[in-house]
Formats: sequence, structure tokens, C-alpha cells
Amino acid sequence: MQPDGREADRLAQIRQRMVESQLTARGITDERVLEAMATVPREHFVPEARRADAYADRPLPIGGGQTISQPYIVAIMLEVLDCGPGMTALEIGAGSGYQAALLAELCERVWAVEIVESLARRAAVALDALGYDNVEIVVGDGTQGLPEHAPYDRIIVAAGAPVVPEPLREQLAEDGRLVIPVGSRISQRLVIVRREGDEFHEQESIPCVFVPLVGRYGWSPNA
Ligand code: SAH
Repeated sequence: MQPDGREADRLAQIRQRMVESQLTARGITDERVLEAMATVPREHFVPEARRADAYADRPLPIGGGQTISQPYIVAIMLEVLDCGPGMTALEIGAGSGYQAALLAELCERVWAVEIVESLARRAAVALDALGYDNVEIVVGDGTQGLPEHAPYDRIIVAAGAPVVPEPLREQLAEDGRLVIPVGSRISQRLVIVRREGDEFHEQESIPCVFVPLVGRYGWSPNA
């Protein structure tokens, strides 16, 4: 069930407070990111039983052992990704679809790959219900990218990888940018890859903790 009008207004206020206390207060300054995060109703992407915690300052379980990331880490990733109008974006690890909705606010066209079919289905329903018609959820192993729509101006990976998967590098547009957590199965650092022509520049950023990116160029699923 979706929240009714009054409940939606109450949640909009909580959402605005989240933006101020969790994002602005911690140094997120990109107006487009702040506006997108003040717009997308996060409560539509968490299980109904968790709706009261939708704007909590932490990740939340979304089923299948997976999580929707803490709002602050989503904001940091979007800020370093630096999306703009007219851009195409690829997300790996669509999970609940929340970050895909934010990308849909910031970019022209978004493809989001999710390996767990039940999550992909739920994400697609939530995005559809909110009227996001510039996002497509695709079921599959996102470590191989999504060659049929490449190249992408922006690629964002929402799960922790052992290394930067080569196909994702290859599917970056010239002047493209990729943000991905890289490290061990339990802790990583955000890595930002910038493509300039045939050259790739890599920069390490803050420590983070994501669920493992499994698949051909990721971790083995049964470790
Ligand atoms: N961005 C999500 C949070 C994702 S959690 C949100 O806004 O809710 C990480 C997700 O990555 C999980 O749903 C997990 O199933 C998925 N995942 C892990 N390995 C993957 C792969 N190889 N391809 C696509 N999705 C993957």
C-alpha cells in the first residue's frame, strides 16, 4: 500500500530534514543531488514494515540479504559521479531501485542491472508507480556491464568489487566517469575512474562498506 496524502506530506518533511541533517550538515553541496534527494520518496523503495525507518541514517534490509544504502553514502556517490542533463547512466546493483530513481532525476536515460530477479521486479514496479519512464531495470550479471546500450557517460556500482571490472571500464564513454567500491568482501574504498579518450585515471576516495558484487568479474557467490 502507498502512503495516503497526509502521510506523504509528513514523509516529505522528514525527507527534507534528512537532507539538511544528514547531507548538508556533512558537507554535501551539489544542489542537484540535494534536490533529487529531497524529491525521491525513499519510503516507496523500502519494505512496508520498514517504512517508519525510511529516512534513518543507516542502510536498511530490502530482502534477499541485500540492503538499500544509507542516504549519505548515496549522496556522496552521486556527488562524485557528477551527472548532468542529457547524460546516460548505468547502475550496477539496482537493489530497491532508489538510487536508480535519483539517477533518473539527474540524467536523461538510466539502465540499472540487478542480479536478484525478485529485487529487480520490485524495483521496476516501484519506479513505474512513481512514473519514472526513463529508467530500465535489467536482470543479469552487471559485472559484464550492459553492452547493448554502451557507452555510458556515467557508471555507478552499488556493491563492493575485488577489482574494477574490465567490461565497465570499456563501456565508459570518452570523458566518462565510473564510481565503484573496491576492496575486500567486508570493506572497501570508493574508486573514481575517469576516462579521457583512451586514458583512464583512477582516484581513491573514502572508506565504505557494501554488500559483495558477485558475478564473472566480481566475487564468487558461494564464498
Ligand atoms: N542501489 C541499491 C542498493 C544496492 S545493494 C538501492 O538503491 O537500493 C547492492 C545490490 O547489488 C544488491 O541488490 C545485489 O543483489 C546486487 N548485485 C550484486 N552483484 C551484482 C551483479 N553482478 N550484477 C547486478 N547486481 C548485483
